[in-house]
Amino acid sequence: MFPLGTRPGPPPRLPRPVPPFLGETTDSYLRRLAIANELHPDDLRVHLVGRRGHAPVTLDALAAATGRSPRALAWALPELRPGVAPRAGQVLPGHVRRTVCWHCSARRGVFSYATAWQPAESCICPDHRIWLGSAAHPRQPGQYDVGGLADILQAQRRHYRLARRHGRKEAIDAIAAAAHITALWARHGFYRDRRIPLIRALRDEVPLTGKLPSGDAVTAVVTYPETVDLARVLAKPRWRIPTPIAAGDLQRFQHEVRSYTGIGYEHEDSRYDPLFRWFQKRRGRPR
Ligand SMILES: [Zn+2]
Repeated sequence: MFPLGTRPGPPPRLPRPVPPFLGETTDSYLRRLAIANELHPDDLRVHLVGRRGHAPVTLDALAAATGRSPRALAWALPELRPGVAPRAGQVLPGHVRRTVCWHCSARRGVFSYATAWQPAESCICPDHRIWLGSAAHPRQPGQYDVGGLADILQAQRRHYRLARRHGRKEAIDAIAAAAHITALWARHGFYRDRRIPLIRALRDEVPLTGKLPSGDAVTAVVTYPETVDLARVLAKPRWRIPTPIAAGDLQRFQHEVRSYTGIGYEHEDSRYDPLFRWFQKRRGRPR
C-alpha cells in the first residue's frame, strides 16, 4: 500500500499473465487475471493502481503487470482504447457483450467464464457451432450445441448477409423487431412448425401446447431461423420506411412474409397480431 495514494513506479510483473480474449471486457480480464494469480480482485486492483478504491486501471499498468505491449492489450481489450468510455454502455458500435464460447475457453485452459464484446450478428461460434446468444434476447445467455441443426446454421449465414447488405444498425433494429414478434408467437404457440423440431432437439420434450412460457431460456435459439427470415422482410426500405398505404400493400407484405419465413402467415388484420401492428405503424390502416 502506498500512503500517498500513488504507486512510485510501474507494478511488478505478475507470475501468471494470462492472455486476454479478443474483445474481452476489462472486468472479465481482471477477474480472470486475479483468479490465475490467486489474488482477490480487490488486491489485484491494488497491485495495478497502487491503492484501494475505484481508480481506473491504465493500459500502461496492465502492460507492466502482464508483460504485454500496450498496443496488443488495447487491441484485445476495447474498453481500454484511448477515447472509449466503457461506462457509457456502448464500447464498440454494433457490438454486444456475450460469454465467450465454452469450447474456445476450454481450448485455452480457461474454466471460468469470460465476457467479450462481439459483433451483434455473430450468434454462433464459427469454430465450435455453439449458440452464444442473440443481441435481441440479452437475458437468455445460455449456450447450446447447434452443430446438428441445419436450420439454425443457415439462419446464421443469412443473418451475416443481412448485416452486410443493410449495415449493422439496420440489421440490429430489424432483428430486434422480428425477435419481439417471434417470441410472442412462440408464447402463444402460433406458427410452430419450424420451432417444434428445434425445441425437441435441444430439450428432448416439447410442451404439449407447443407454447413457450415468457422468458423461456430456449426462446431466442428456437425462434432464431424465423426471426432472421422475418427480419429480412422488415429491413427492406419498402416496408421499413413509413409511407402512406397503397392498394394491395398488405397482401404483398403478407406474401413476402410467407415466402421468406415458410410459415403460413394469414391475413390477420388484427391489433392482437404483433406483425400486423408493425405493418400498421408504418402504413396506416389497410383500405
Ligand atoms: Zn468456440
